[in-house]
Amino acid sequence: MKIIGHEETKKLIRQYLDRNYSSYSFLFEGKDCIGKKMVALLTARAYLCEKDYGFGCGECSSCKMADNTIQGIYGEETQNPHPDIMVVSPEREIKIDQIRQVINFLKLKKKKAVIIEKAEKMNVEASNALLKTLEEPPENSLLILTTSNQNRLLPTIVSRCKKIRFRPLKAEEITQILTLKNAEEKLIKTATALADGSMCIPSAILEKPPLFKYAKDLYTLLTVEGLHPEGIISLSDIFDRLENDEINIVLDIVEKIIYKKMLKGDVNPDLYDRFIKENQELKKAIEKGVKKKLAVEGMYFNLKS
Ligand SMILES: [Zn+2]
Repeated sequence: MKIIGHEETKKLIRQYLDRNYSSYSFLFEGKDCIGKKMVALLTARAYLCEKDYGFGCGECSSCKMADNTIQGIYGEETQNPHPDIMVVSPEREIKIDQIRQVINFLKLKKKKAVIIEKAEKMNVEASNALLKTLEEPPENSLLILTTSNQNRLLPTIVSRCKKIRFRPLKAEEITQILTLKNAEEKLIKTATALADGSMCIPSAILEKPPLFKYAKDLYTLLTVEGLHPEGIISLSDIFDRLENDEINIVLDIVEKIIYKKMLKGDVNPDLYDRFIKENQELKKAIEKGVKKKLAVEGMYFNLKS
């Protein structure tokens, strides 16, 4: 359960826990894919630890069950998760039924911890229901919301939580994480250069290296002279078979490549501006269910015109 980075943040959290309040409401804010959820899980482990030590003593029965919960969340098969830790994750959004379960869980008399990840995905009803709980937090409870965009949360929710800001990861931390994952040296270099403080792109290309190649191909098609319909047609066939979030990653990589090339003077700033706009439109269109192949081809021809 190793966390890379966030040492200062963890110290700050431990200081709050040392105040021994009966209830806590935290908002963990920072970029996607930097470890907020993992730190939230460790905070829950610390809060529930029978020895109330560090981020959990690792030896008491509560810590052992918390470890099972954490391993289960990160894809390992485990049994006997902690009954007093609840994690709420969005599908497309977080709905009121999910928040009602949280509210009932928090009514239990014993100590318990709830993590609501990507809290900005709560819909209006869910947000309003949670707000009522935050106004009168139940005793013996730890509630952590995580978000990459607090502006999309109700301001009244934000103001009722203790905000903990998570810094982006440093390049050497990204390299360290990739090394721990046994990535190849060449991939580590590429991924670290594209990371921009977060593991979203590095994790994606570690899991599926061709995503980086598709991004380079799209970049090449966008920047070589002239129109190459055959090129974009075969590339968009590939896009058509990708998941939505994989396409988002590819587009984010292209945006980063264009940005770097623009700084070097290899690419016209006008292309960068137009790409950002087209990129947003394309992501929205795909989200709404427009056929991926058509959306990508549309973007290409718009940018080439
Ligand atoms: Zn413990």
